[in-house]
Formats: sequence, C-alpha cells, structure tokens
Amino acid sequence: MTTQSLEAKAQALNEELEALDLAGRLAHIAGLDGRAVFTTSLGIEDQVITAAIGTNRLDIDVVTLATGRLFNETVALIDETEETYGIAIRRFHPEKADIEAYVAQYGMNGFYESVEARHACCGVRKLKPLARALEEASYWITGLRRGQSGNRATTPFAEADLERGLIKINPLADWDIEAIHAHVAAEAIPVNPLHNRGYPSIGCEPCTRAIKPGEPERAGRWWWENDEKRECGLHVADAASSIIPNASGAA
Ligand code: SF4
Repeated sequence: MTTQSLEAKAQALNEELEALDLAGRLAHIAGLDGRAVFTTSLGIEDQVITAAIGTNRLDIDVVTLATGRLFNETVALIDETEETYGIAIRRFHPEKADIEAYVAQYGMNGFYESVEARHACCGVRKLKPLARALEEASYWITGLRRGQSGNRATTPFAEADLERGLIKINPLADWDIEAIHAHVAAEAIPVNPLHNRGYPSIGCEPCTRAIKPGEPERAGRWWWENDEKRECGLHVADAASSIIPNASGAA
C-alpha cells in the first residue's frame, strides 16, 4: 500500500471508529481484511481491550513482549488472563544472542548509565520482538490514551504507521482513567496488583517505580532520565528507527 493510500485509509478509519464503542471499534477492525494484532503489556488499559477481545471472541491476535525483565506480578497476570478469557497470549522473547551482545557491551543493567544504553536495551528486548510480532500485520491495536501523557495528548483512533507499513489503532484514545477503572470494576477484569501500589504505568521491573501523589501517570517510567517525552520507542516512529536499525521490520 502506498503512503498516500495508507494515510487515506487511516483517516477514514479514524472517523468510522469515533462513532463506535470499544467493542464496536474492535469488531470493526477484526472484520476488515488483513491480520490484526493487539500488543498487550498487561497494563490496566490493555486488560480492558483483552477482555473485550476475549469476551466477544474477536479474530485479533493477542501478543505480549516477554522482555525477560517483567515484574513477577505481570508474568502471573498473563497466565490468569489466558485462563479467564480462554485465549492464548503469544509471548515474543528477545533473541539470546542480542541479549548476550548487549550485556557484553553495556552490562545487564547498563540502561541506567546513558540514554543510548537504555534505548539499546529497549531495542533488543522490545523493538526487535515487536517487529517479529507485527510481521504480516495490517492493523496494530494498542492501549494508548490521550490522558496518559502530554506526548500522547493527540492520539487518534487510527493513524498510519509509515515506518511499519500498517495502521495503528488506538480504541481507548478518548477514555480517561476514571472510565477505565469503572469499566474494570463493573466487568471484574483481572488487573495487575501493582496498580494499587502506586504503579499506574507498568513496564520492566528495573525501569518502573511507583509514583507520588500528583505526579503524571508515566512519571515512574525511566524516572532517572530527564526527557519529559521519554518512551521506549514502540509508539514513536522516529525514536524507533533511531534506536535500532530495521526496528520497523513489519514494513
Ligand atoms: S524498559 Fe528497561 S529493562 Fe525493559 S527493555 Fe527497556 S531498558 Fe531494558
């Protein structure tokens, strides 16, 4: 698909999805031609999406990036979620050779030493597995919300990801955190117990801390870095391509 047609398709989808509720948005994407992949980090937003996919038996592949540095609570929640909804969550692991090369160059926890070392770790543990997870995908579904950070304040329902050659779908873009909590309670959706211990956003264990009252939701991610817009590169195309060559391998 050309850049122009990908952008036109994303724009049309963005308008179509706006009028639908969450289940309707996901069913709409599942009914389109092409593979749809949902990448879950098992965070509370992602659990809302997984529950909708599982409950409605939608034809969407649910995958997660098993970085090898996740909290035990997150790993346990993968199994619990599969059991609750009768679905398979496919784990994508980093390549052993990539980890060995990283550790040899930076050390196991070298990501604390520099932004470059941190990006390199996210590159081998997240971005390369993500590229494999998105191979042949036409639609990439995420749990991004506009309220999560200033960096995400303009998140649309559908956007062309030109780096990866697909359309990114953000069905919770217009949900606020209160609506997420209310939905989780009403539907008895299993969530990570760390959310109740001050972790609104949960990533890898060594790179996530609890936040203090009044701090932004993502303040606990890579807290030692100063960049207000810090991300792991999954959702920032320019960052992804600069973090690791061919990170956009799905394209
Ligand atoms: S979040 Fe931390 S441990 Fe996880 S891949 Fe990125 S740098 Fe590595």
